[in-house]
Amino acid sequence: MRTLLLAALFFAFTNVVSAQERKVEFTTIQLSDTVYMLRGAGGNVGISTGEDGLYIIDDQVKPVTEQLLQAVRKVSDQPIRFVINTHYHADHVGGNETIGGAGTVIIAHDNIRKRMTTRQVNKFRNDTTPPYAKDALPVLTFNDRISLHLNGESATAYYVANGHTDGDSIIHFPESNVIHMGDMYFNGLYPYVDLDAGGSMQGMVEAADLALSMADDATRIIPGHGPLAMTEDLKSYRDFLVRAGANVQELIDQGMNLQQVIAARPTSEWDEELGKTWITPAQFVTFIYNSHQGIQEYTPPPEVEAEED
Ligand SMILES: [Zn+2]
Repeated sequence: MRTLLLAALFFAFTNVVSAQERKVEFTTIQLSDTVYMLRGAGGNVGISTGEDGLYIIDDQVKPVTEQLLQAVRKVSDQPIRFVINTHYHADHVGGNETIGGAGTVIIAHDNIRKRMTTRQVNKFRNDTTPPYAKDALPVLTFNDRISLHLNGESATAYYVANGHTDGDSIIHFPESNVIHMGDMYFNGLYPYVDLDAGGSMQGMVEAADLALSMADDATRIIPGHGPLAMTEDLKSYRDFLVRAGANVQELIDQGMNLQQVIAARPTSEWDEELGKTWITPAQFVTFIYNSHQGIQEYTPPPEVEAEED
């Protein structure tokens, strides 16, 4: 028992050390006079900088905060006035504590603050998250939308209910013609739908529809994960979500249970392209199945025998 405990402690310790020492490569792309996209470790970051100062959208994972701040300083050495969080996941709010502690105002939807101030149980990741420290919490919260008017343009965060979680916003810069989708859009991999935190496939589609209603052919789309996208890419992502949903619904209508739906491989046409990086086809089908059945939690997919092609 004692050996097990020591082994567990050692494992936890080495994990922390390697995470802290991890050198991350940050890449920054300029999208307009004022708006940038930054990639590093965790969700993609949006940056607005100009005559009125600097603000960012999301702040990645906690262990890379110092590296993230250095990467942001390469764009502008102005202090960060605001952080807008797209949702509460640790790979999007990880820098909050350090950045908020330095006096930056953190802005987020009401539900993000609710989840960050309470213990969260997640069945998909099989973990619990304790409440965040005070400095990490959003101090300005909204229920529908909020607009910032800085650097010669507006940026509006629109709340879209029950998509990736129950607290997601997408942020639109109309003048720069850029939309930050947060995790409502995974570019190049199956999306994670956090059923345990109020997520649903229907909301994912609604978010894509809202973004597309504000976009034109030249709009640059910052996904929560994956490379920069264009409107065309978001359109095909939206169509994929709808078609995958319809495929699963057809099997539900035939009376199949989750195990049978997974075995029927309703997402086979996308599995090779989208199902290898993180979310597996069986997990993605479970997100859809449970969303459509109104099951507000992740249930692990039963082991399914791989079928020969
Ligand atoms: Zn997320």
